[in-house]
Amino acid sequence: MINISLIGSTGSIGRQVAEVVLRHKDKFRLISLAAGSNAKLLEQQANLFKPEIIALANPERASEIRELPKGTTLYTGEHALLHAVSEKADIVFVAVSGFAGLAPVLEAISMGKNVALANKETLVAGGEIVMRLAKEKGVKIIPVDSEHSAIFQCLGFNPEAEFRKLIITASGGAFRDLPKDKIEKMKAADALRHPNWNMGKKITIDCATLLNKGLEVIEACRLYNAPLEKVEAIVHPESIIHSMVEFCDGAIMAQLGYPSMEIPIQLALTYPKRLETGVPFLSLAGKSLNFAEIDGDRFPCFSLALDAFKKGGLYPCAMNAANEVAVELYLKDKIKFYDIPELISHSTENAKNGDVTYKSLVETDAEARRAVYEKAESL
Ligand code: NDP
Ligand code: MG
Repeated sequence: MINISLIGSTGSIGRQVAEVVLRHKDKFRLISLAAGSNAKLLEQQANLFKPEIIALANPERASEIRELPKGTTLYTGEHALLHAVSEKADIVFVAVSGFAGLAPVLEAISMGKNVALANKETLVAGGEIVMRLAKEKGVKIIPVDSEHSAIFQCLGFNPEAEFRKLIITASGGAFRDLPKDKIEKMKAADALRHPNWNMGKKITIDCATLLNKGLEVIEACRLYNAPLEKVEAIVHPESIIHSMVEFCDGAIMAQLGYPSMEIPIQLALTYPKRLETGVPFLSLAGKSLNFAEIDGDRFPCFSLALDAFKKGGLYPCAMNAANEVAVELYLKDKIKFYDIPELISHSTENAKNGDVTYKSLVETDAEARRAVYEKAESL
């Protein structure tokens, strides 16, 4: 039996982790659950899975939790997520969105726990300290993001295997085929009609701006210890190939499959073994595979992310925080599509660089958020 601490249980990924656990009840147990504000769903999950610990970060919503099973303890407030990183866990599954994932990831690694990591923002903002600490503690950071799971599979589950290039595929997002003057007018509601994947709102907007691909290139550099030159992103509208690895002899390995996060989620818990999923099998007859370069003119966020990574230090953290706030404002229809890259540029240009520590990351994150809210007022 594998005991799992699930951080971010109420989100799109978290709910799919819960489904995987239900499908293989004899193999997995949710020992602790943590969420942000969705008290009602957390309560339902607690009654279904009977974990020892549940945590709700937003204390104002805690009173909505009325009935818990005997033996389940509830924590609320700022540090609640850390309580949900259980001593008894065999693996900590981090499915929280945004910078909020960094603290539980560092907590899990400090406790010597392997981490199944869906939360890419953690590796973008704090990859340097996360990967260093993981190495020190002999802890595995197991990729859940579909592209990074595909690469992991192509590398034979060995993140240290040699390769020439990592090729990350991108669906192209909801506005892939639109000209710039149309994209300019698109609202969040349009972006949320994502063609191939069904995901949380923040990442769906990141897909529409292609900032998500920038984050994923950085994530790949961190996970596979690769310089930026060895990681390429390419638009592949069909989302059949989830990513590829090119080797020194010219061979390219690819991982294909129906686009469902259940496969990488489950594999992160079972690899190198594979178990059945509820995912349809892919029929290839009649399908075609297309590839195109990312259009930097229509989607400037992609290179903004990479520029921040090239500058290094605290810049990726500032870029990530600026984007989180810009996306939040776009989702509320308070800013326009191309205000997102403008706010990111503004915030990263004004960020101060320095040594990367947990404290400096938290300060940079807060400062970049403040700068974006302020700048957004003047747009
Ligand atoms: P969702 O928005 O659907 O879910 C986010 C989860 O995080 C919820 O459980 C939410 O709690 C919780 N949460 C958010 N902020 C906080 C906070 N400050 N404190 C505590 N909990 C918080 O996101 P997704 O599931 O789509 O994505 C999760 C992560 O996985 C992201 O980093 C994303 O980039 C990555 N990812 C997602 C994919 C997908 O298919 N969805 C694919 C690949 C990667 P609540 O709802 O209770 O407030
Ligand atoms: Mg992805």
